[in-house]
Amino acid sequence: MADDITKRIARFIEPFRVRPGSSVKLAKDFDPAFQAGIKKKKDGAALLKDGIELLADYQARLAAQDTYGVLVVLQALDAAGKDGTIRHVMSGVNPQGVRVESFKVPSDRELNQDFLRRYQKRLPSRGEIGIFNRSHYEEVLVVRVHPQNLLRQKLPVATRERHVWKCRFEAINDWERYLSDNGFRIVKLFLNLSKEEQRVRFLRRIDLPDHNWKFSTHDVEERRSWNAYQEAFSDMFTHTSTPRAPWYVIPADRKWFARIAAAAVIAHTLIEIDPQYPTIGDDARRDLEAAKTQLEEEAPERAPPDPFERQQTQGEASNGDATHVTAAETLGQGKG
Ligand code: AMP
Ligand code: MG
Repeated sequence: MADDITKRIARFIEPFRVRPGSSVKLAKDFDPAFQAGIKKKKDGAALLKDGIELLADYQARLAAQDTYGVLVVLQALDAAGKDGTIRHVMSGVNPQGVRVESFKVPSDRELNQDFLRRYQKRLPSRGEIGIFNRSHYEEVLVVRVHPQNLLRQKLPVATRERHVWKCRFEAINDWERYLSDNGFRIVKLFLNLSKEEQRVRFLRRIDLPDHNWKFSTHDVEERRSWNAYQEAFSDMFTHTSTPRAPWYVIPADRKWFARIAAAAVIAHTLIEIDPQYPTIGDDARRDLEAAKTQLEEEAPERAPPDPFERQQTQGEASNGDATHVTAAETLGQGKG
């Protein structure tokens, strides 16, 4: 059964994966409105619920095992739904096990340091899922599209002028390899929004009073650089989708679909890690048994020596892995 769901999730997310070594043209290669045959939001609801439960279960094991950490990198243009995706996908997970880090315009202090340092400082620890809401990839996106950002970084002239983007891609790949060697798996998600859907979402933010706070005129200015961003994204995918840390281009014109797809990619990584609850050794087991005997001997008259023992055997008899059956079945329907 576990194998079955693993395969179905792998098949579901395959169309989003940027094949390492491929040369990407974003507009040609990925459709922001793709729905994998799932027709309506309500057809996807059960799928999202199952995905969220799966994530919660695996996150608990990740934390208990305390060997691996997961870094989820989330990149997108404005209004693509980064915040909503984080909120929905992580809604079932123990808040103690997740850390969200948002990256804004670098401070003076950060501009006085090498470009990866501020990201290094906010990585997750073992047992944690860290989410980068914007990430080190801004260093080859907004910094590339608006070169004044690069000037502000006070680099030596030779570094700034000789193949700076190629060097950054290599530095990022090396850094991610280092993290992965040390037990930190990286899941890279790009929410792929169409230009027309962005226009509609901006208008919505303007027209609905309780959405006004989300709107910034800066976002409309950035929209003028749409083509430059598409090229920067394409080049970034081409150079930084690696076998260990591939990019996934998530169709984002339907928010509900983007959430299902993002949950599936993160779940896939956790399933691959397959974290296990720690088991105890023979000595510790003997200590537990001795403590149990002693506690049972202390039971008052007429009380069962160990009330929990009976509950547990009853529970096991009735409790299969029903969640996984549902998730597998729904995913099967989704692919049609
Ligand atoms: P938001 O995520 O919408 O709150 O906006 C954060 C802003 O910070 C965006 O306009 C980003 O382009 C900008 N930003 C993030 N990282 C960098 C960076 N490394 N250099 C320059 N601007 C950045
Ligand atoms: Mg913004």
